Amino acid sequence: MHQEIAAIPDGGVAVVLGTRPEIIKLAGIIAELGPKACVIHTGQHYDTGLSDVFFTERGLPAPQVRFAVGGAGRGGQIGAGLASLDEWFARHRPVAVVVQGDTNATVTGALAANARRIPVVHVEAGLRSFDKTMPEEYNRIITDHLSDLLCAATEGNVENLAREGIGGAAVIRTGNTVVEAVRAALPGPDRCRALLAERGLAPGRYALVTVHRPENTDDAAALRTILTELHRFPCPVVLPLHPRTLGAVRRHGLVDLLDGLGVTGPLGSAEFLGLAAHAAFLVSDSGGVQEECTVLKRPLIVVRRSTERPEAMRDFAVLVSPGPLISKTAAEWWKDLPGLHRRLARLESPFGAGDASRRIVAEIARRFGTR
Ligand code: UDP
Repeated sequence: MHQEIAAIPDGGVAVVLGTRPEIIKLAGIIAELGPKACVIHTGQHYDTGLSDVFFTERGLPAPQVRFAVGGAGRGGQIGAGLASLDEWFARHRPVAVVVQGDTNATVTGALAANARRIPVVHVEAGLRSFDKTMPEEYNRIITDHLSDLLCAATEGNVENLAREGIGGAAVIRTGNTVVEAVRAALPGPDRCRALLAERGLAPGRYALVTVHRPENTDDAAALRTILTELHRFPCPVVLPLHPRTLGAVRRHGLVDLLDGLGVTGPLGSAEFLGLAAHAAFLVSDSGGVQEECTVLKRPLIVVRRSTERPEAMRDFAVLVSPGPLISKTAAEWWKDLPGLHRRLARLESPFGAGDASRRIVAEIARRFGTR
């Protein structure tokens, strides 16, 4: 099921995406490609708050092609997406297919392009958690091994690829597109003040929390522990709930634990980043938030078993399992927040200078001839 476009432009590049973080981190590349971009949305995230709002916010046109793989399990999503994309690539031949990150849409786009011998460009290549309990780890490995141009954000990512025998001209180090994504979406000081005032929040005196990974939401005990820990914080909590988390809270009978937390639906980029920039600290199991905290200069508690972003752990974030260390870390930071914020403000983001999108599009043009 999809809308059809007349034809892909001459020298056109297909950008295959399906979830919130892909849209956020590919927005700069889509904008740089301009009329050469043909955006194909697999429909993995079909909730407007996780999808369409991010196109609108960045002033991007709606995707030219949409499939509807959402709702199925991982295999079903990849299978349905692959069949639809294969049929589409049989009729439209882009000069390259761009995918980003580690989602089912990422691996689907890479497989479909590879099957039709269209060059695959992987944005955010070379991340490894070395944790094979995460489906994302398989998605990363498969996508990297199918890719013709691998855009690695950091030196560590380049090294991860080299250990698997991927190197040479196929790999370029670009930084992560998240840096320019944050800069483009972060509202100015007046809007930020208004955002906080609307929620009755004082700058630097609240925590912003996101939780949505299966390791924290499928496991009732883990989710109960995390929510209980939030009640032990020394400050108010803002908790934008991912639909998966809301479903899990209901399923596990934990609705009472939401009382007293500042629960909202998923936020758009501007609102989320505006709140994150002025929070005392962040708590998240998100991949993207681990990068964003280094641009926003805010400390982050990562509630996960493992991370594929060790660069963030050097100065900006700590990795903790669901348990008492969550509130203990918060209490420790609370003792000298201004000092912590000042220290982080002096540090550069390990994820680059904010020119990754421009560099990636220039490299695609040079190698695959989009001009
Ligand atoms: N985000 C958002 N609104 C929210 C929560 C998160 O815009 O209410 C953004 C956040 O800034 C980051 C991205 O969503 O850029 C992270 O997405 P997610 O956590 O779904 O995926 P992951 O990064 O873990 O792959």
